[in-house]
Amino acid sequence: MTKSLGLVNNGSIDLHTHSWWSDGVLSPAALVDLACQQGLQVLSLTDHDEVAGIQEACLMASKKALVVLPGVEISATWQGKTLHILGLNIRPDTPVLVRGLHQIRKVREERACKMANSLEKSGIPQVLAGVKKLVHRRVISRTHFARFLIAQGYAKNMKAVFKRYLTAGKPGFVEGEWAPLPEVVSWIKTAGGQAVIAHPGRYHLSATQLNALMEDFLACGGEGLEVVTPAHNVEVTAKMRVLAERYRLRMSQGSDFHDPNGWVKPGGFVPLAEGSSSIWELWNY
Ligand code: AMP
Ligand code: MN
Ligand code: MN
Ligand code: MN
Repeated sequence: MTKSLGLVNNGSIDLHTHSWWSDGVLSPAALVDLACQQGLQVLSLTDHDEVAGIQEACLMASKKALVVLPGVEISATWQGKTLHILGLNIRPDTPVLVRGLHQIRKVREERACKMANSLEKSGIPQVLAGVKKLVHRRVISRTHFARFLIAQGYAKNMKAVFKRYLTAGKPGFVEGEWAPLPEVVSWIKTAGGQAVIAHPGRYHLSATQLNALMEDFLACGGEGLEVVTPAHNVEVTAKMRVLAERYRLRMSQGSDFHDPNGWVKPGGFVPLAEGSSSIWELWNY
């Protein structure tokens, strides 16, 4: 990388985005192109449990005024709950990481079969075959189920389909059994990256549980908290900022972009204030 991130304005950094290598709809090259149009200078591609899109994104970025930082969003289990852990600025070819992600994608396949069976039992025909047609590469996600159910007319939008079919207690929900949090963090560290808890406000954790998570995460070498994300309203953002400060975790920000027809674009958030203790301060090349 030729550019010092210290010279980049916070508003032009997006550290959480998806391509069609997981549940996004754009190719990595198209994502980089859109990010440039949106005025971004630094982008992390963080596909779910997959690093195969990074090479294409970096190649496209090398032709543009934008830096792509290799990343990943890993599904982890902590106290029986699913958490998403971002691995930022990783070396994507690290064997332990590659093997771990391969294993998680197998868990996704098995979960998808169970989800499809359960939905079929509830009266919806041909679910697995229909969903698989919508999978671009090799990560199968609830998002693909959501798109299938909407296309078949079972719900009118993403919000409704998750609420009705794909969340706890609903016919298409099966809890994934992912790798334990410390193992996921260790893969990221072995790959030379920083582990960051994605959208911490989305896990419905009490204050006590959040504190326990921060302690466990720090104990295994976690370094950051995604304070700024469209999943957080103003109050939750403020609360997560306080939590990051209390536990001396570095702050991160990202759009969690998936789809140009969705409601958030790359860079679509109010960035961290300049001078915040950001995760990218660690990356002055
Ligand atoms: P999975 O990792 O397969 O369990 O799927 C999680 C993905 O589903 C997330 O990364 C989001 O892209 C998507 N998702 C979860 N909840 C919602 C929601 N309420 N509305 C839209 N997308 C959602
Ligand atoms: Mn997703
Ligand atoms: Mn996520
Ligand atoms: Mn995401």
